[in-house]
Amino acid sequence: NGSYPNESETGQTLVIGSSGFIGRFITEACLDSGRPTYILVRSSSNSPSKASTIKFLQDKGAIVIYGSITDQEFMEKVLREYKIEVVISAVGGESILDQFSLIEAIKNVNTVKRFVPSEFGHDIDRAEPVEPGLTMYEQKSKIRRQIEECGIPYSYMCCNSIAAWPYHDNTHPADVLPPLDRFQIYGDGTVKAYFVAGSDIGKFTVMSIDDDRTLNKTVHFQPPSNLLNMNEMASLWETKIGRVLPRVNITEQDLLQRAQEMRIPQSVVAAITHDIFINGCQINFSLDKTTDVEVCSLYPNTSFRTIAECFDDFAKKISDNEKAVSKPVTASNTDIFVPTAKPEAL
Ligand code: NDP
Repeated sequence: NGSYPNESETGQTLVIGSSGFIGRFITEACLDSGRPTYILVRSSSNSPSKASTIKFLQDKGAIVIYGSITDQEFMEKVLREYKIEVVISAVGGESILDQFSLIEAIKNVNTVKRFVPSEFGHDIDRAEPVEPGLTMYEQKSKIRRQIEECGIPYSYMCCNSIAAWPYHDNTHPADVLPPLDRFQIYGDGTVKAYFVAGSDIGKFTVMSIDDDRTLNKTVHFQPPSNLLNMNEMASLWETKIGRVLPRVNITEQDLLQRAQEMRIPQSVVAAITHDIFINGCQINFSLDKTTDVEVCSLYPNTSFRTIAECFDDFAKKISDNEKAVSKPVTASNTDIFVPTAKPEAL
């Protein structure tokens, strides 16, 4: 599987988790940047939608390597044979600890110039969500400490929230349209968060990996233009759909109760939602550590997609779906889920 790099090629990058939500954005950005891009795909993965993502990425130029990061010996072989210089991991929340064997492989091979472990959320050394969010953060933290102990060059990506309606029970909110029946507003809806487009998570991650200024740093995504609270998000979406929707308040207690139900992954999302929109975990600290860098300061001439632009995309999906009157909305004519029933009330 895959082909060997030309002797002249540099920047060989291995992306792990390309068939996943964040991994696909990273891989696309990697390919768009022109880097030789290898993707590790588990042969056990047999979902049709994941297979079509892999095919899409292969058609764009990604080279597929079949295997799992839990096979350390195999990973060492891959890193050596493909002369991998950068490893970006976007394994899902349930696989965070799988990265221990990957770290061991990177340490032994000792040629990787940058490792980006699977984070893509908050600064886990600062935020402290309730359980079960906390357990996932503690796992990510163990991975950080192991990377540092092994002396592996790293960047930690803290990209905050994905630009989409922040459903408290959905791990991939950008796969779901914003509400069309009513808004669920957390607390009083005034706590702000950074909403970053998936394509920008990919783009700025890939820009960072060659940058000396991000070496052994925590990279924060804090675009001022993308800092909104839920009331503002709701009003913006109303302008896009041309109507006003009722607002239902979801209290702090409601979110904590959802977290305590320990349904995985929904309760993890509820715990993190509580941390964002009640505790203000994205905005209640300053970037005062020597290890903090911020992408807007690093790349002042590169713009972020605004929430308004992202909401335009969602509104277009709705209008395209409405136009396809004779065709019911199915997985074959849209890749986005249109809610047909009211979300279950809290
Ligand atoms: P997904 O569950 O969507 O995808 C995980 C990917 O990792 C899949 O491609 C999966 O492959 C692959 N994978 C898992 N284990 C292994 C392994 N042992 N070897 C090789 N590949 C493996 O993950 P997400 O995109 O949801 O999460 C990625 C990161 O982003 C997490 O750290 C998560 O916390 C964070 N996140 C941040 C969000 C935000 O809003 N900021 C939103 C969602 C996630 P396979 O197809 O075989 O299962």
